[in-house]
Amino acid sequence: AKPIVAIIGRPNVGKSTLFNKLAGRRIAIVEDTPGVTRDRLYCEVEWLNHKFTLIDTGGIEMETEDVILKQMRRQAEIAIETADVILFMVDGKTGITADDYEVANMLRRTHKPIVLAVNKIDNIEMEANKYDFYNLGLGEPITISAALGLGLGDMLDEIVKHF
Ligand code: GDP
Ligand code: MG
Repeated sequence: AKPIVAIIGRPNVGKSTLFNKLAGRRIAIVEDTPGVTRDRLYCEVEWLNHKFTLIDTGGIEMETEDVILKQMRRQAEIAIETADVILFMVDGKTGITADDYEVANMLRRTHKPIVLAVNKIDNIEMEANKYDFYNLGLGEPITISAALGLGLGDMLDEIVKHF
């Protein structure tokens, strides 16, 4: 079976932007959930010789009235259960929040590989914003700009290393 990569992270960090960028670049949608949510949750991504299924757990937010933290816990649980690699996305413009720490603590208890993507690093001057995210204790942060398509190759390399 194809490996599953789940994107998690609090609302507005850019999960859907990344998802759409990667899905748009190639590739067939393997599953849709019409009527349940307006977001596509699954797509198929190909990188180098690897194919994987990408899940945007953020699409699940729309089905619930949960508070943000509860949503994030659920996203993390889903990712921990179903994913082969977890892509934890944070916002490099706003910096670490309490919710980010909360999710990081959940993720640390899993043995699943985690790739930490610091999004919204739109230019070289913002690169230094990544250092703060070492404090999450999840290893080296990878800087990306989902909107501009920067750093995505390095991020994908890191993901497929774990297959
Ligand atoms: P989600 O809630 O995690 O799915 O986040 P979205 O993908 O909906 O993005 C939330 C907001 O962040 C939108 O206004 C996006 O345009 C913006 N955004 C996403 N990626 C980037 C980025 O790389 N740079 C900047 N500056 N803004 C971004
Ligand atoms: Mg979204």
